[in-house]
Amino acid sequence: MSVSVNRQWILNRRPVGEIADGDLVLRTSAPPVPGDGEVLVRTTYLSLDPTNRTWMSDVDQYMEPVRIGDPMRSIAMGVVAESRSGRFKSGDVVMTLGSWSDYFTAPAAALTPPPRTPGVDVQAVFGIFYLIGPTAYFGLMEVGAPKIGETLVVSAAAGAVGSLVGQIGKAIGCRVVGIAGSREKCDWLIEDLGFDAALDYKSEAVGPALRRLCPAGIDVYFDNVGGEILDAAMGQMNLNGRIVECGLIAHYNDTAPAPGPGNYPRILMKRLRVQGFIITDFMARLPEAFRALTTLHAAGRLKWRLHEVQGLENAVDAVKLLYSGGNRGKLLVKVS
Ligand code: NDP
Repeated sequence: MSVSVNRQWILNRRPVGEIADGDLVLRTSAPPVPGDGEVLVRTTYLSLDPTNRTWMSDVDQYMEPVRIGDPMRSIAMGVVAESRSGRFKSGDVVMTLGSWSDYFTAPAAALTPPPRTPGVDVQAVFGIFYLIGPTAYFGLMEVGAPKIGETLVVSAAAGAVGSLVGQIGKAIGCRVVGIAGSREKCDWLIEDLGFDAALDYKSEAVGPALRRLCPAGIDVYFDNVGGEILDAAMGQMNLNGRIVECGLIAHYNDTAPAPGPGNYPRILMKRLRVQGFIITDFMARLPEAFRALTTLHAAGRLKWRLHEVQGLENAVDAVKLLYSGGNRGKLLVKVS
């Protein structure tokens, strides 16, 4: 097939603090040519994730940062435009780690067909399965190890991961309290998703609000945020409580190391377990999460929102929504 033009967002320089104009530039070039065993993918959707910002920084992290001059990396869904592998043919829908580009090449071995479930739109795969749902599922069930009747608190609760964590927690019989950045988000958590309570951290102090909403203390805190919210939750953890360190979005734009939580001594006094995880630790077990999520979805116990931004040219403005709280659910860019 013949493709004449490819737009790509190139990492031009590493952002200092929030992403600024000129950190990424949109360049047009000839599309890449697949080599033996590779395919050319036409991007349909990009998954924009908080970790995209960490990939732009040359800091110690779980994978290599994007190199200056390279196209920005992201999870992508697309259609095979040209195949030089027996595994995929033109027209197949695939997912992989791609880039903020109209077209990219990838080894066929790195591509998977999107996990599908009846009655779920193909782009909704991003909302429930790849890799948001497994992050919520393994983070809560394996790392948090919640028990029936325990109190689970989750931050960034109206976001992609947080909203699923709370619903899984409800399904297994926890009391679930969400922390989110607006009244609208809190209302959605309680009225649509069935959370027991939610607090708007932008309009009230988190510590006193958690004391009010968690009279029996906190058994599992699922942290998507870090910073003052983590500190406030840590201050109310129960004996043998678990803190699931999933994400630190309050720090991804930091330009200097943040001070540690003042409530750190509580780890000792209450014998807490604080454990970080990255979903890539669980890749071999993804089918297990897909099964559990499909079962919950079929039982009507799993809802999600997709926040779809139109056009590759808007990817940089879109990713900033994650840090302002402007996204309403899983953030996607529709490319074609
Ligand atoms: P979300 O859909 O939750 O979007 C991010 C949300 O974070 C925003 O909407 C905003 O909501 C909240 N937020 C942003 N800045 C702050 C801040 N300073 N303080 C408090 N809240 C803030 O994104 P995801 O669900 O994709 O990701 C959630 C977290 O999970 C991230 O930290 C991410 O890095 C992590 N993650 C970790 C994975 C892992 O393998 N460990 C895998 C995937 C995600 P609000 O309006 O409520 O402020």
